[in-house]
Amino acid sequence: MATKKIGKKEIAKLLGMWNQRLNVFVPFKEENIAKMVRWDGIDVSFLDWYRNTVIPCKANFLPSMERMFSFKKNEDGYHIEIPQDEQKQLIFGIRPCDARGIAMVDKVFTETCEDPYYVSKRKNTVLIGLSCTNPYDSCFCTSLGLKPTESADVDLMFTDIGDEFLIEEITDKGEELLAATSLVKQATKADGAKAKSEKAALSDMVIKKVDTKEIAKKLQACFSDKDYWEKVAAKCISCGVCTFLCPTCFCFDICDELIKKQGARYRGWDSCSFRLYTKMPMENPREEKWRRVRQRVCHKYEFYPMNFDITACTGCGRCIRLCPVNWDISQVLSSLPASATSRSEK
Ligand code: SF4
Ligand code: SF4
Repeated sequence: MATKKIGKKEIAKLLGMWNQRLNVFVPFKEENIAKMVRWDGIDVSFLDWYRNTVIPCKANFLPSMERMFSFKKNEDGYHIEIPQDEQKQLIFGIRPCDARGIAMVDKVFTETCEDPYYVSKRKNTVLIGLSCTNPYDSCFCTSLGLKPTESADVDLMFTDIGDEFLIEEITDKGEELLAATSLVKQATKADGAKAKSEKAALSDMVIKKVDTKEIAKKLQACFSDKDYWEKVAAKCISCGVCTFLCPTCFCFDICDELIKKQGARYRGWDSCSFRLYTKMPMENPREEKWRRVRQRVCHKYEFYPMNFDITACTGCGRCIRLCPVNWDISQVLSSLPASATSRSEK
C-alpha cells in the first residue's frame, strides 16, 4: 500500500481541486448539529473542531426522507417519474466507525436485494477517512475490534502527523484521486514511523472498554428473561433517537402523498423503538416496550451477526451520548445475566 503526505495548509486547495469534478462533502455544523454537508469551497475549520458528526454518514446514502418517484394520472393512465441520482460525490473526513457502519449497511442493500437508490449513491461515492484524534468518553470501538485509525472501509485514509497528514491509498479509486495532483508528496520512512506511533496513541485514547466476548450466546441465554428485559427497558421513552443516529440502523417506512391525480412515494427512517413499528393488520408483534428494547439489542449483537457474520455496532457511542434519558447500550452488554433460560418465548 502506497503512502503519501500533504501539508494541512494545502487541504483547502486539495478539496477545491476535487470539487471541480465531484460534489465534495465535509463535516459541518448546522444549528450546532454536525453532519456531512456539501462543501462551500472555503471553510476547512472542521479540521480544528471535528470529533464525529451527530448525524452519521449513512444519511448521505439513506436520507431521512427520500422521494422514490412521483406519479401523475391523465387520460392515458398513470405516468411515473423516477429521480435520477448519478452525481459523483466525495465524502472527506469520515471516521472509521462510520465507514464501517456503511460497510455493514451495504450488506443489507446489496446482498439481501439490490436497492437501486442506495446502490447508485454508493457506486458514485469516494470515501476519504480521517483518523479519530478525539474520541468521546462514550466511544468503545476498540471493544468491537475497530481502531480509531482503521482504514479497511475507505478509499483513502488520512492520519494526522503534526503539520501534515499521512495518506494511505487503500483502493484504486483512492489512488486515482491522488495521481493528478502535485499537492501530495511521497511519505518518508520517518513519516511512516511517526504515523505508527500516532496510531498506537490514538487507540489508547479510547478509554471505554466493553466485554463483547460471546455476546450473541449470552443474549440467546437471556432472551426469555422478561424480568431482566423489563428492568433494562424501564427508562427508555421509545423516542427512536438511538436508531435514527446509529450508523448501522437502516429501517425505513414507505408512504404515498396523493393530491387529486398526482403525488409521490417517499421512504423515510423508521425505528424498531416505536410502538407502531411493523404494525400488522391483526397485531403489533412488539407491543410492550421491553420486547422492542430487546429487539434492538439482539438485532445488533445476535441476529445481524447470524445473517451477515458481522456485529451491527461499531462502538461509535452515539446512542449513549444522544439518548435523552441516558440509556446506555454498553451497560446492557456488561450486565447480561449469567444464567441460561429457555429460548421458547417469542
Ligand atoms: S434514544 Fe434512549 S430513550 Fe430514545 S429510544 Fe433510544 S434508548 Fe430509548
Ligand atoms: S448501537 Fe450505538 S454504539 Fe453501536 S453503532 Fe449504533 S449508535 Fe453506535
